[in-house]
Amino acid sequence: MSTLRFQVVSEAFKKKALAVTAPGACTSEYFGKYVFGKEQMSKYLSKETLKVIQDVIDGGKALDREIANHVAAGMKMWAMEMGATHYTHWFQPLTEGTAEKHDSFIEYAGAPGEGIIEEFSGKLLAQQDFIVDDTLCIPTVFVSYTGEALDYKTPLLKALNAVDKAATEVCHYFDPSVKKVYSYLGWEQEYFLVDEGLYAARPDLLLTGRTLLGHESAKNQQLEDHYFGAIPARVQAFMKELEFEAYKYGIPCKTRHNEVAPNQFELAPIFGETNLANDQNLLIMSIMHRVARKHGFRVLLHEKPFAGVNGSGKHNNWSLGTDTGVGLLTPGKTPEDNLQFVTFLVNILMAVYKHNGLLKASIMTAQNAHRLGANEAPPAIISAFLGTQISAVLDKLEASTSEEAIMLDSKKRMRLGVARIPEVLVDNTDRNRTSPFAFTGNRFEFRAVGSSANCSSAMIALNSAVAAQLTEFKASVDAKIAAGETKEKAIFEVIKSYIRESKPIRFDGNGYSDEWKAEAAKRGLDCETSAPLIFDAYTSKSSIDMFSSLGVFTEKELEARNEVKWETYTKKIQIEARVLGDLALNHIIPVATRYQSLLLDNVYKVTKIYDKEKAEKLSAQDSAIIEKLADLIDKIEVNVQKMVEARKVANRITSEREKAIAYHDTVLPFFDVIRYNADKLEMIVDDEMWTLPKYRELLFIR
Ligand code: ADP
Ligand code: MG
Repeated sequence: MSTLRFQVVSEAFKKKALAVTAPGACTSEYFGKYVFGKEQMSKYLSKETLKVIQDVIDGGKALDREIANHVAAGMKMWAMEMGATHYTHWFQPLTEGTAEKHDSFIEYAGAPGEGIIEEFSGKLLAQQDFIVDDTLCIPTVFVSYTGEALDYKTPLLKALNAVDKAATEVCHYFDPSVKKVYSYLGWEQEYFLVDEGLYAARPDLLLTGRTLLGHESAKNQQLEDHYFGAIPARVQAFMKELEFEAYKYGIPCKTRHNEVAPNQFELAPIFGETNLANDQNLLIMSIMHRVARKHGFRVLLHEKPFAGVNGSGKHNNWSLGTDTGVGLLTPGKTPEDNLQFVTFLVNILMAVYKHNGLLKASIMTAQNAHRLGANEAPPAIISAFLGTQISAVLDKLEASTSEEAIMLDSKKRMRLGVARIPEVLVDNTDRNRTSPFAFTGNRFEFRAVGSSANCSSAMIALNSAVAAQLTEFKASVDAKIAAGETKEKAIFEVIKSYIRESKPIRFDGNGYSDEWKAEAAKRGLDCETSAPLIFDAYTSKSSIDMFSSLGVFTEKELEARNEVKWETYTKKIQIEARVLGDLALNHIIPVATRYQSLLLDNVYKVTKIYDKEKAEKLSAQDSAIIEKLADLIDKIEVNVQKMVEARKVANRITSEREKAIAYHDTVLPFFDVIRYNADKLEMIVDDEMWTLPKYRELLFIR
């Protein structure tokens, strides 16, 4: 009997790497060709329009309708020359990924039936538009008639605006010429590749993005031989084509490598302005799916597709930088730069300290819960890693007087005194891989973000928290100055109090250890592990005050968005529970029963041929297995039944929050029990009868 499993395994083995050719002689030749960027604008827009557009981009002002119409006309001409026939508003809903509805450019020229023209007007416009296939995509915000944000982009733009405003004002203590502060994001996208035939034979991968069952492979990542190893040929071809495609969209891909788990890989571009970098990440996630299909793969962006091996994250490297080209998280070569750096660093620590529960909520989903707080995962606690050198600087500042800490040079510029930062720092930061929020030389790396996430969620929370913190810092410093203190002393005193207050968030040790869990609880950090309860951090008083003071979210928006989070959580677990029940009852148990009946048949025949004593001896092994099978089958059946009952009870709850809690507390626990018993069956049943592709096949065939 040849099952689907053997068919797809043998087909997967035969697949060869596709030949991939570069779209041009050098990357610059086609880089950004699908984006309506500077080059395209200067070709398709008049000089006057271009100038206004530049002012709009620099000043962050809105486009007026007339200019927008000029831009739309130019863009349409470009898009149609590129072969586009449709346009779409490309937006970022609260569910996942992006959403789009395509409309063609055509409109009736006059009365219906009198022929068509291709129409596209300024009111349809946004920035950073691009073409996918035959469609002009217009990144768009999505708001309700009454003005509430229904997406990620609207609040992200508000948060970026807020951090620009607050940080620029703080910069003025050090350099009055700063006009704008940019938030920068460099994401690192981790993913798994699985042969598409094997994928199709796993209903759980198909419907939930992860394996709900499957015994660990004898070999997985113990030897760490996959990490940074040679990239397999078929994967290499996929990566090459993915990069070529990314370049066409102006996405500056920089690194690609194998990750820790077998069949796990990573892609990272050069960092960019946060809004643009995030659009690029969303775009690349959809390009990945398309390119993977071409190479006979499926991309898994789920945070934990396989038990027993590493999950996938999307580290968000984040920093702030001025329009004058200064990185505010770069210690800099001179002591003047050092003081500005310390000011921003300490404010960020305060922001992360005050809002650690919110930051955790910003990265939490049903999927990412497997990476934080679950069995094989680090504890669900946000802490910040600074490394020995920066920690020493803060400790020294804390122990200094303002005269020792801040000096004035001959030109009356403020500079760090005793607690100088060693110049070698940038190449010398400790590489603590267990910290969810780590300082890495010139940026923080928010590592808790999940691989399938829209980075906006984390970026909204982080940039807002920092904006609110910087605003508070400025108010405190200004109050001290107004009371007669010098600027240096005022800044120092506030920083010193922040260093003291934010201490509980600093942790340089092993973030995965159990000791840290106990210690973090003592320090008063948020240690909640249940996703539905973690979401509550969005509607705490401190979050509501913080977001509403900046105009990023109203209380009503926060409440509404949490409803969506709870509902999504419930639905994800509900779908997984259904798939798990189906797999257990219709894929696993029937196979186990068939195998059991084969053994029974054998035992029966043995008794027919041999005398009682000999027959018993010969069939003892089979009889033991028959009983084991019966026991495991029974446990699976009973627990599936209990899980269904738990779902029925949970489904009667009307509050989305309570329902999500019920799914977490009463439905989810059955997953582990059912899996445990099913995986045991997998180890007993004849390999040839097993229908679902096994872990070794999913993880090692490429
Ligand atoms: P690692 O895996 O060692 O953390 P990678 O090279 O994979 O590093 O990714 C680092 C990411 O951080 C890249 O996207 C890079 O462009 C980005 N990055 C570097 N400096 C900054 C910065 N100042 N602000 C934001 N992102 C940065
Ligand atoms: Mg990396």
